[in-house]
Amino acid sequence: MDKNQLSEGIVYLVGAGPGDPGLLTLRARSLIEGCDVLVYDHLANRKLHDWASAGCERIDVGKSPGRHTMEQSEIGEILVAKAQDGLKVVRLKGGDPFVFGRCAEEMLALDEADVPYEVVPGVTAALACAAYAGIPLSHRDFGSSISFLTGHEDVAKESLRVDFAKFAEVGGTLCIYMGMSKLEEIVEKLLVGGLSKDRPAAVVSQGTLPGQRKILAPLGELVEQARVGDLSAPAIIFVGNSIGLARSSTWFDRAPLFGRRIVLTRASGQKSKMRSRLEELGAEVIDLPLIKIEPAEDRKLVAEVFAGIATYEWVVFTSANGAKAFMEIFFRAYSDIRSFGPMRIACVGESTAEVLQAYQLDIELISQDSTAEGLAKELIGTDSLDSANVLVITGNRNREILVDVLEGVGRAIVDTLPVYQTDFADVLEAPVLSTFLKNGADAIIFTSSSTALSYVEQSDDLIFEGGARKPILCSFGPQTSKTLKENDLKIDLEASHPSTDGLIDALVEHFSASG
Ligand code: SAH
Repeated sequence: MDKNQLSEGIVYLVGAGPGDPGLLTLRARSLIEGCDVLVYDHLANRKLHDWASAGCERIDVGKSPGRHTMEQSEIGEILVAKAQDGLKVVRLKGGDPFVFGRCAEEMLALDEADVPYEVVPGVTAALACAAYAGIPLSHRDFGSSISFLTGHEDVAKESLRVDFAKFAEVGGTLCIYMGMSKLEEIVEKLLVGGLSKDRPAAVVSQGTLPGQRKILAPLGELVEQARVGDLSAPAIIFVGNSIGLARSSTWFDRAPLFGRRIVLTRASGQKSKMRSRLEELGAEVIDLPLIKIEPAEDRKLVAEVFAGIATYEWVVFTSANGAKAFMEIFFRAYSDIRSFGPMRIACVGESTAEVLQAYQLDIELISQDSTAEGLAKELIGTDSLDSANVLVITGNRNREILVDVLEGVGRAIVDTLPVYQTDFADVLEAPVLSTFLKNGADAIIFTSSSTALSYVEQSDDLIFEGGARKPILCSFGPQTSKTLKENDLKIDLEASHPSTDGLIDALVEHFSASG
């Protein structure tokens, strides 16, 4: 590293918002994308880490069980040291850095070391919780001041920081951070200070996240209702007359899959339309990869196929992974997409087609349902297979059925080119495993036979703790269902046609029927 670079170190104290990644500022996002070091704790949503580059160093300074809790001074030292190494450091802070975020302490450490820094504001939890839970914080007639208060700064500290009895006199709307462990005491003080038991109040926990919960209750009933509703930190407590104008449900919690925890079992790193659709519908999506996909190629076979690539009339792609791996191999052999040749292209399902469309390749046939049988039928329907040379791009576990049908019924001459390999992924390596087994889920989705087989094989490591929600088992299509049934697993839900949309429609229908 040269001297110029050394002088460029800087720290950005960045507001990470309350949870929903959509609530970060554009500036926050571009700083995360461009930083060398990401320093975070647990209030900042982990999904934000995906925006950082692969080479970015990630430093966890949050509390974790079994690990020494880092002192504030140590965090300051890390920020200073990394910036002095000439690096661009993003220190992510939940909500807004200046609202109960200990930002002033980190600024002081940076000032003392003469390290430059900038502060990027964020959406603070109280405002975000209010918006997502439909709780107005002000009203011309019912609330003309808004106060942000904190119950405690540190769970270990016994006493309340704020004289809540005095704030009862201030009135207006009170937004109380870090108050859940002292809820009873806070309510008592507010009542002693003169607030009526009927004063509208609310608690919103996990605000803006798929697990958001809220209760609306008069102040006198708040403690009991929070206990019954099992609402826990992180949460904001709201007290004030304008809270009385809150609606019991909002656009956020009315989403069809709101509050549902859904497990995806596909290989990690796969871009997932399923994930984004589920999240749009309000679900909390958990990745428990049961398979892993690795590039695999028989170099001799690849060389042979590529030498004769111009002789194929059709190239058939059976999966998005196959399409991706094929294009990688293709560009190692040729530098120009025009070398692809004039053959026609067929794909199983939209997500496979999308991979190729990104290279501006025209896809002649995309099977309506995402099965090899569906594609075989449609290909035969084109009346172009008799004696035609067809190349099928596959993985190591692809079913022979496509080839059999194309050769048998379609009378085509079929070559296959395996380009990737699917293996079982070890569930013990999944970061979410312990929370998954503790809390369970509402649904687990098997997108392929191999995910189902891997689940069966590792069932001894997938035993839920008592009290965990037991998920329903969902199958993407007939082949996956067959594998589940053969292994004595009950399928609770199968897509009416094997596609992402088919499965999502079935899930929405299932959960709206079950209430
Ligand atoms: N700087 C943060 C606050 C940090 S203090 C901000 O501006 O939001 C931590 C407290 O913030 C938690 O105890 C809780 O009261 C509140 N909080 C943070 N995220 C929250 C969320 N998603 N839902 C509800 N409360 C949240």
